[in-house]
Amino acid sequence: MATQRALTGKIALVTGAGRGIGRAIAGRLAHDGALVGVHYGHSADAAQEVVAEIRKNGGRAFPVEAELGVPGDADAVFAAFDAGLRAESGGFEGVLDILVNNAGVSGSGPVGQAVPEVFDRMIAVNAKAPFFLVQGALPRMRDGGRIINISSLATRRAFPESVAYAMSKGALDTMTLCLAKELGGRGITVNTVGPGFIETDMNARRRKTPEARAALAARSVFDRIGRPSDVADVVAFLACDDSRWITGQYLDVSGGTDL
Ligand code: NAP
Repeated sequence: MATQRALTGKIALVTGAGRGIGRAIAGRLAHDGALVGVHYGHSADAAQEVVAEIRKNGGRAFPVEAELGVPGDADAVFAAFDAGLRAESGGFEGVLDILVNNAGVSGSGPVGQAVPEVFDRMIAVNAKAPFFLVQGALPRMRDGGRIINISSLATRRAFPESVAYAMSKGALDTMTLCLAKELGGRGITVNTVGPGFIETDMNARRRKTPEARAALAARSVFDRIGRPSDVADVVAFLACDDSRWITGQYLDVSGGTDL
């Protein structure tokens, strides 16, 4: 008899899933049996590749295109999500079990160099978009659902070199706490995952020389830079029933960075 996988029958939406951490999360949730909406903003080819890879591995996924951080972004995401879901599942329109708010932008700089446009963008993409995505998700989310917000170690360690980024992620942490309380009655858990340095495009500028790489790796007690799968595996745990008694939490996924 085939063993049922942890997320069989679940429907997931992962934002920013064409690249980096989101890509690994989408792949892992699909591997665990979920039907996954692979959201992207600009990386259409990359997102198609993720969908193709998931399907090749026997999983189910579809692309969801919508730019975040612009007016109407959440509505656009769910319009694309519903269209994809209809085509992929032939039903289940308007249903969701797992929302992973992963898409994000970084690089805001220290306070002395801050400009209002960049500040606004950090808040719009990293905090406002997840907030309204949750608002759009809630009427569709089945009881026992999961909301997982990808924050950053930058909310737990001083990170003055990117203060607006850290502030935007701090808003996400606070949203997690509030929503966990509000949604407990429906069995929906809400948690934050806080990665340290993970090897993606986002921090490529920090790994330009072997010395810079080594210095970044040395900040973890494991003396290596994190991999997207290090984060995806934790998200998979939070997405499945095994984590049902965990809510409102910030999970440090930084490999013991700067302990
Ligand atoms: P990444 O490789 O730069 O990928 C960022 C993702 O976000 C892309 O898939 C991108 O999609 C999406 N995105 C960004 N702006 C968007 C917009 N305006 N509209 C739609 N999608 C948008 O970054 P990553 O490292 O995988 O980061 C994923 C999450 O982890 C982010 O929230 C980040 O803050 C957090 N994080 C990362 C690290 C790290 O060291 N890498 C550490 C702590 C936290 P498109 O390319 O399709 O636009």
